[in-house]
Amino acid sequence: MSVLLEIRGLEVGYGAIPVLQGIDFDVEEGKTTVLLGLNGAGKTTTVGAISGLLKPWGGTISFEGERIDGLEPPALVDRGVTLVPEGRRVFPALSVAQNLRLGSWTKRKRGAELKDAEEKVYDYFPILLERRTQMAGTLSGGQQQMLAVGRGLMSLPKLILIDEASLGLSPALAKTVFNIVDRINADGTTVIIVEQNVGVLKHADNALVMEKGEIVYRGSGEELRSGDELRRTYLGGGDEEAAPAVARPTPAPAQAAAQASAPATSDDEPRSRRRSRARRAGKPGTG
Ligand code: ATP
Repeated sequence: MSVLLEIRGLEVGYGAIPVLQGIDFDVEEGKTTVLLGLNGAGKTTTVGAISGLLKPWGGTISFEGERIDGLEPPALVDRGVTLVPEGRRVFPALSVAQNLRLGSWTKRKRGAELKDAEEKVYDYFPILLERRTQMAGTLSGGQQQMLAVGRGLMSLPKLILIDEASLGLSPALAKTVFNIVDRINADGTTVIIVEQNVGVLKHADNALVMEKGEIVYRGSGEELRSGDELRRTYLGGGDEEAAPAVARPTPAPAQAAAQASAPATSDDEPRSRRRSRARRAGKPGTG
């Protein structure tokens, strides 16, 4: 196993209040790691620290064997660490294409790779190609989420951190986004995905569960997915297909449009088979 990201004794807080009190974990290169936990567990704080938005109080973060804790977000994007923040945060008054171009700003000299990345983004999310001249603020919530992920990919990340991609999406649309995560990973990008939706587990190689600023479980996505007892213990008994571990807002009707043009999904295929098929075919891990 090759470790891309190594977190040791990470401490982060807000003001005088500590949140993470010395967490440790590794992220394997080329894999998808899911960070699960209920509201307030410390997931966003963790990815905020990795992506440079929050300054660690203590501990170390190493990426490709080098310390990156304390670096500013642009320097981290430059090295290949990109955060897709919770809440989409697209530029509403810019078009889809302009939003994507902004994502590529730090890598603007890598023309051929950017062209390839743009093609991939439009291939992952055909609705974005259809809507490329539309103002981002007029897209549905699901489409904005796709755009936020697409914009992240345009920075040519080696590691992409996606914070609560499924928040506010219908179960079907959340599955679509998770299937695209499979493709992104199959195409060579290491992924950390923050979720409360246990449906993500079939798309995860590794799973970490957080509770009150600590990692209380670490194992394979499959182990956590198939272990009813484990799921009950760590995730409050959420059934996998019941999706969220906590209540979610009802999706907006406009999201139906995005679903209509989204790739079909299959739920029962194990992660490893889905991914190797996605690799072979260059297609989503869908059936
Ligand atoms: P959620 O799914 O609700 O985003 P989370 O697991 O991502 O939950 P965090 O957002 O990391 O959790 O929050 C962890 C703790 O830090 C919570 O107790 C929260 O109240 C606190 N916290 C988060 N942001 C701030 C802030 N800006 N100022 C003060 N406390 C904060």
